[in-house]
Order: sequence, then C-alpha cells, then structure tokens
Amino acid sequence: MTKLLHRTIGSTMPRAVAGEGIYITDSEGHTYIDGSGGAAVSCLGHNHPEVLDAMKAQMARITYAHTSFFTTDVAEELAEQLVELAPKGLDYVYLVSGGSEAVEAALKMARQYFVEVGQPQRRHIIARRQSYHGNTIGALATGGNAWRRAQFKPILPETHHVSPCYAYRDMQAGETPEAYGERLAGELEAKIIELGADTVMAFVAEPVVGATLGAVAPVAGYFQLVRRICDKYGILLILDEVMCGMGRTGTMFAFEQEGIVPDLMTIAKGLGGGFQPIGAVMLSETIYRAFAEGSGLFQHGHTYIGHPIAAAAANKVVEILRRPETMKNVVRMGERLQVGLDAALGQSAYVGDIRGRGLFRGIEIVANKDTKEPFDPARKINSRIKKEAMRRGLMCYPMGGTIDGVHGDHVLLAPPYIIEAEQIDMIIDRLAAAIDAAIAG
Ligand code: PLP
Repeated sequence: MTKLLHRTIGSTMPRAVAGEGIYITDSEGHTYIDGSGGAAVSCLGHNHPEVLDAMKAQMARITYAHTSFFTTDVAEELAEQLVELAPKGLDYVYLVSGGSEAVEAALKMARQYFVEVGQPQRRHIIARRQSYHGNTIGALATGGNAWRRAQFKPILPETHHVSPCYAYRDMQAGETPEAYGERLAGELEAKIIELGADTVMAFVAEPVVGATLGAVAPVAGYFQLVRRICDKYGILLILDEVMCGMGRTGTMFAFEQEGIVPDLMTIAKGLGGGFQPIGAVMLSETIYRAFAEGSGLFQHGHTYIGHPIAAAAANKVVEILRRPETMKNVVRMGERLQVGLDAALGQSAYVGDIRGRGLFRGIEIVANKDTKEPFDPARKINSRIKKEAMRRGLMCYPMGGTIDGVHGDHVLLAPPYIIEAEQIDMIIDRLAAAIDAAIAG
C-alpha cells in the first residue's frame, strides 16, 4: 500500500531502481528505452558521470546558501554561460527550480517592468490555446489547454487566448503557410485591439509546442509577425522554452530558428537534464535596467532559487550541450528519427502527421486519415499506446486532447541527445508495434 498521492490513484507503476545512458531499469529487472526523456527532461540520459562528478564536487564545498545572504560561484558561472549562449537581448538570468516557477517569474517580471516604467495599466496576458505553461495558478491560467484548466477556472486570473499555429489542422485548403501565418498574426492584433493595446502586457508562446500539441513547429514567418506586433504595441514577448529549449530542436534555443529574440524566455527541463530540479528566466537588458534603476529589486523569490547543487549540475549540462558534437548528434539523430518514423508509420491508416524538429518529434494519431477525424476519446488511445509501449520496453509521451483539450491523440518523442542510430531504430520499431496493439485492442 502506498502512502504517496500518485498522479493517478490506484495505478500500479513499475519502480525505477537504476538509470544508465538512455535506459531505466525497474525493480523487476525490466529495462526501458527512455524515448521521451521522461517529459523531455533527460537530455543527457541517466547517470551521466561528468554531471554526477560536478554535483559531488559541489556537495563537498557547500550544498545550500540562501540567496538573500550569498551568491555562489556555480550560480554566477551558470548565468555567465547562459548569457554567452543566448543571442544579445537575453542579457541576464534569474534562477528558479522548474518550468512553472520560471513562467510565474516571467509573468511577474513583465508586470513589474510596466509598473517600473510608468505603465501600470498594462495587465493583460495573451497566450495560445493548446499550449502548456505549467500547473501553478498563473502558469495554468496562461496555458490554453481546456481540460487542464477546467476545474480550476474559477480561481485562475483572467487571461486571453488566440489560436495556436497548427498547420496540420488549421491551415485552410489553398492557403499558403505565409497567408496562414498572416491570418494568425491578424487574430493576435485584433485581440490586442479588442482588449485595448495599452492594457496588454505580454504575449506568451512555446516556439515549438510540446506536451499539449505534440512537437508542433510554427510556419515560417509567423514569429516574425508576432514580434513585429508586440513591438508595435509595446507588448513584451515571452517565449516558453521549458520543453523545446536547451538544444531539443537542434539549436540551443528553438526561437533561434525563427529569426527573432524574445524579451523574456523561460527554460527548465533540459537545463538540469533531470539531474537536479532547476529552471531559469532570461531577460533583456531593458527589463533589467528598469528594475535596477527603479525599485532596485525584482519583487519575487523562493527558498531554493540558485540552489548550488542544481546550479552545479546545470553548469555541467550546459557545458556538455555546448560541445559541437552534442548538437550535431541532435540534428543527425533527429533526421534519422523523422525519416524512420515516416517509413514505419507514414503509410499507417491511423497516423495523420509526423512532425517536429531535432530530437523533438510528434506523431498525431487519427481514426480517419483523409478526414483527420480523431478517435473517440473514450477509447483512450493515448493511454493505451503508453501502456503498450511500456510493455515493449519503451517510454514515450502520449497525450490526448490534441485538438481541443478533449479530442485527438498524439505521441511525443524526446530521447536523450546521446542516443545512437540503432537505438533510434529500436524506438521506432517498438513504437510502431505499440501503436498497432493499442488500436487493435
Ligand atoms: N512550460 C512548458 C512549455 C512545459 O512543457 C512545462 C512542463 O511540461 C512547463 C512549462 C512546466 O514545467 P514544470 O513541470 O517543470 O513546472
């Protein structure tokens, strides 16, 4: 009998007892390929010796020093590394302990910025339907997944949502990607005007939508239009790279492929690689200056921000991510994954779309490929795929509600960047078999 309140009560889960490279082993000796890095977390696999050594070395020095009393070498080094890595315009770093905390902090930074610069009327947040930004109240309110929000809606702060950039379903017949991007940008601009342009503080988006849509990248040009609209109305652009960042899509940050720079960016998951809980917000010099020359502080803080062991782990993770061979492998293995998935699943009557970038790939499952009609949610195709994949020794990240929070199923793959060609092929074989079994069952 468990005393833990698990995510799903009453389900029996295997007990993880060991992790090595891309594999996790349970207490019964079954081994699983971590084809999703948990939830796009374990970017360097498990038990990476260099990261463990960095953590041990930090443990021998100091494990905790409250950030209202001290800074530490490891936290300072991490901030320096991240600023070196990011394009100009993301010039400072605020450390937190995970993705939701990063999103909360970014929202508060946006709000405080406008207070500091004498625009306290700016309060509206606009985000996109079918995005996920975390489970704390502010982050949940910002996310646009109807199912996740539903029961908490009465206690969520007011936020506003526009359409996602979801070409597979929403780009109209005969519409070019450019025209589709312009239509979406028009919708955003109309929403800004409806709310009152000088009352909007931020637009929040995942550059490549992860958990709730399944690795959906934008059409070319979309984010440039978004950037232009934000600039036109003096609105801050917050990009949430908690899932798609830190090399997952083949560039260190996913937005780099869009030719824009946000005002605020959130990162987590791949930053600590699962070795430690850590997240961060990167902010522009302009926002930093407004705080520095205004109240002289960012009115926020948590007990564990800048935790030395988390910072030590992240420092080493980032150092490894910066090695040219790491990103090269993401691109090479990402292509192999896409080509292999196309070959194995492209002809399936139940696979509507295979998409993504780098080692971040999504497979959308449909009941009818021609009409793109989804399966009845009662069939719980996504949870069956997860179960069948686990039975075959594969961790993948299936989710339902792809289309509107209720209908639609997809599978997300996000394996560690250290993966090798034969292991990619094993993921594809096992996933194909799991999808077949789930649909047949
Ligand atoms: N933002 C995005 C894009 C995410 O995918 C997630 C988690 O999946 C979060 C925020 C929340 O992160 P965390 O679960 O670390 O709080």
